[in-house]
Amino acid sequence: MSEPEPACPLCAPRPEDSPNWLKVAALSASTLYLDRNQTYRGHCQLVFDRRHVEGLEYLAAEEHDAMMGDLRRAARAIVAAVQPDRMNYCSLGNVAPHLHWHLVPRYRSDPRWGSPIYTTDVSQMRVTRLEEPAFRALAATLARCL
Ligand SMILES: [Zn+2]
Repeated sequence: MSEPEPACPLCAPRPEDSPNWLKVAALSASTLYLDRNQTYRGHCQLVFDRRHVEGLEYLAAEEHDAMMGDLRRAARAIVAAVQPDRMNYCSLGNVAPHLHWHLVPRYRSDPRWGSPIYTTDVSQMRVTRLEEPAFRALAATLARCL
């Protein structure tokens, strides 16, 4: 539903730097974060900022246009920064039921090429952490590409 949800972790104040992500930039209707799990280099999350909604179906036309513009802008920045072989866009809402996308660069050399990245419960997925300087450099590169 689209009603305010006090327990929603994405409606609560979001840290810019956390064990889960690092903020790249605020866009027109959303904020782009670089995911700490870099199994898929350049993996980002784009979170709708304006209010709590669970899906595209709850957005007004202007919100939708702004969100889709942000999604395209973020995707182009990721492609420019890390040059993947393909982009995957995942908006599932099963873990955090607040409109957001995982923008997942895919590579012919990645562990799941040809298949979705999600295989099972998120806790059982491969986790890859970059060294902090490399992680921050990637976030800065993405910001420059926006
Ligand atoms: Zn929310």
